[in-house]
Amino acid sequence: MKVLVVGGGIIGCATADTLARGGARVVLFERGAPGGEASGAAAGMLTALGAGPRTQLQDLAVASWRLYPSVAAELLERTGVDVELVRRGTLYPIFTAGAIVETGVPPPLAAEFGVAILDEDETRAREPALSPRVRGALFVAGDHWVNNQRLVSAYAQAAAASGVEIRAGRAVTRILTAGGRAQGVLADGEEFGGDAVLIAAGAWSGELMATAGAKLRVRPARGQMLALSHVPPVLTHCVHGDEVYLVPRPSGELLVGATVERVGFRREVTAGGIAGLLATAIDLVPALGDRAITRTWYGFRPWAPDSLPVLGPWPGVSGLFIATGHYRSGIMLAPITARVMAEWILEGKPSIAADDFLPDRFVAGPRG
Ligand SMILES: Cc1cc2nc3c(=O)[nH]c(=O)nc-3n(C[C@H](O)[C@H](O)[C@H](O)COP(=O)(O)OP(=O)(O)OC[C@H]3O[C@@H](n4cnc5c(N)ncnc54)[C@H](O)[C@@H]3O)c2cc1C
Repeated sequence: MKVLVVGGGIIGCATADTLARGGARVVLFERGAPGGEASGAAAGMLTALGAGPRTQLQDLAVASWRLYPSVAAELLERTGVDVELVRRGTLYPIFTAGAIVETGVPPPLAAEFGVAILDEDETRAREPALSPRVRGALFVAGDHWVNNQRLVSAYAQAAAASGVEIRAGRAVTRILTAGGRAQGVLADGEEFGGDAVLIAAGAWSGELMATAGAKLRVRPARGQMLALSHVPPVLTHCVHGDEVYLVPRPSGELLVGATVERVGFRREVTAGGIAGLLATAIDLVPALGDRAITRTWYGFRPWAPDSLPVLGPWPGVSGLFIATGHYRSGIMLAPITARVMAEWILEGKPSIAADDFLPDRFVAGPRG
């Protein structure tokens, strides 16, 4: 089977790799460079418990989280790229403990993830630089993080080594359909045929699906971030408040994120966005006020109206598949998304429950 994958973010690269290892011939089209959009802009946090207990989203996230240690080890072995999986855990300051405390965590998962409530002394013993306003913390030992730029690069290199033909710098302008079937894509004026087409074009997926007469309600949610110099380190854990999170990278940077803005595809870092993140970060960890700003950036998260991923076959156009809408969790969900999509395409259905993510829920207007 020949599969054309559109989009070289984490979702496209991971799925292309899994498809090729499952025996498919795969061509991946990326109009820029792999990881050049949301997947490179992310913070790389692997926080699986925020979705609320007993939802398919939480099951998906936990399944993906469980895959990460072996994914990181395999990518290192296959490509030589260390994706910097850090397993020191995340502190949620108690005045901002958020969804995890409110929704509760089923006891077996709480044990697996090492969830604990820390009092003020225990919190300060872990992170002495936290503001005196912090009275305690929820600690999730299992909330890990990776270097997402390295991760996309590793998946792209692994995909190429598995035989995926990566066409970077090639923009797909049209999905080709005939008689209710996807036939291929048009990329920079050239037609490419395939047995299946997978759209993994992130926040741009809706534009592409429209060329096949499909109405997909996925929009960009801009996120701005910055990095501070973090040598010597102020924090050793990830610290996650309601309005800001702080991610210490092994490379000596502290990532500070992130805004969530519905401003379309405006390619800007704004004074207000960065000022807001910095004020909240310094309020939480006053010592950060002395640190140099090393970088600022933005990315466009793919966001569906119900904030759930959109995964599966597009109804009414056989051979057309979609994998997008990962919103704030696409790095977290990449390994399991790759598996689910490869199963949809190669075997006709996934091995885990994923019907909450079917694109049927958005189908409107002409099909086929
Ligand atoms: C600031 C920020 C922080 C985040 N932090 C986290 C986090 O800590 N943890 C987490 O799990 N998630 C996080 N996310 C979310 C995560 O980054 C996204 O959910 C994920 O990267 C989406 O991956 P994707 O492959 O679908 O999209 P993208 O990475 O955007 O990839 C889509 C690709 O498709 C290409 N493309 C588009 N149109 C075409 C076309 N017509 N032809 C060819 N190529 C095309 C684009 O160039 C792009 O490279 C964050 C996002 C942002 C912005």
